[in-house]
Amino acid sequence: MLPALGLAAFDATSPLAPWRFTRRAPGPRDVQIRILFCGICHSDLHTVRGHWGPVAYPLVPGHEIVGRVVATGADVTRWREGDLVGVGCIVDSCRTCPSCAEGLEQYCEEGMTDTYASPDRDTGLPTQGGYADVIVVDDRFVLRIPPGLDPAGAAPLLCAGITTYSPLRHWAVGPGSRVGVVGIGGLGHMAVKLAAAMGAHVVVLTTSPDKVADARRLGAHDVVLSTDRDAMTAQKNSLDLILDTVSASHDLRPAFALLRRDGALCLLGASPEPHRAPSTSSFIMKRKTLAGSLLGGIPETQEMLDFCAAHQIVADIELIPASAVNDAYERLVKSDVKYRFVIDIGTLQG
Ligand code: NAP
Ligand code: ZN
Ligand code: ZN
Repeated sequence: MLPALGLAAFDATSPLAPWRFTRRAPGPRDVQIRILFCGICHSDLHTVRGHWGPVAYPLVPGHEIVGRVVATGADVTRWREGDLVGVGCIVDSCRTCPSCAEGLEQYCEEGMTDTYASPDRDTGLPTQGGYADVIVVDDRFVLRIPPGLDPAGAAPLLCAGITTYSPLRHWAVGPGSRVGVVGIGGLGHMAVKLAAAMGAHVVVLTTSPDKVADARRLGAHDVVLSTDRDAMTAQKNSLDLILDTVSASHDLRPAFALLRRDGALCLLGASPEPHRAPSTSSFIMKRKTLAGSLLGGIPETQEMLDFCAAHQIVADIELIPASAVNDAYERLVKSDVKYRFVIDIGTLQG
């Protein structure tokens, strides 16, 4: 077994605290990675606080991981000691089902192995995530961080980046597309940057007046306060695709009304509570779609990282020491983050 030091949740309400634990012993196909940076995703908070159901504690969250390879198993040929690599939300899958065969491991028919809080396919023990000094990951689920990307700013690409990139590609966004983004947090700010880089006209819908100027700086062409009825009405019948990244229950009808014929509202936010849904006629009258999307597969994650390197895109981050994680969680609950917290893992002390 490999000793590790992490920041763990011990129950649904107490602060995260340092915890010494063990990883599985690295096997012939494994890559051992010294973690440098790990982003804080709202999914980490949903999980450790039990919003999505019971979990086994202690639990080390974190699935936006950038680090350096320190050792490789005998069968690993792609990586060498010192390589800068990333690990996202998926660390294993069945590898043979139709979804895995298509490189869509997030939709693995047997269920993917999440980076944390999932039974490890080898040991059966719960996986532990990236708020830690070291991780062991199968070669096939390790991503290359292209040169030129700031390693700390690249960490959030491993979840917030791919989760927004994948639906933008699925709905074939490009020049001439009109894309709405609801909620400017970790996912939302990446959606704006990526959609703008793909050539789309981007409209941000936010509840936060203090994010209006930032949204334009991130690449939005229009910014609408979703509480401003007149401004919302002015955008009616104008958007082809809306990515909804809101982390809490909300009314979907105002955004749905902004879609034009054949438009799609794609849910990315994973609120544990249901949303107020659009009426049947609002689907029928303009052949609209209400959809959802989960993460992105390993090949598409690499494609996204290469796209970000080509367009010089990283997340806007607040780099924090490990000791500030609990404050960061409280700020995340208040939508007070610009726009992703990233933990400097070098500051982690037992
Ligand atoms: P985040 O940084 O906290 O951003 C969420 C944003 O939603 C906030 O900044 C805020 O934006 C808006 N918001 C929050 N509460 C709201 C409310 N009650 N009503 C309206 N707007 C509200 O979170 P994140 O890390 O981007 O994650 C967002 C959600 O996506 C989470 O539920 C997370 O679990 C989920 N997620 C899903 C996937 C997937 O594969 N589908 C992957 C990763 C994360 P404004 O201030 O601009 O309004
Ligand atoms: Zn995430
Ligand atoms: Zn599979």
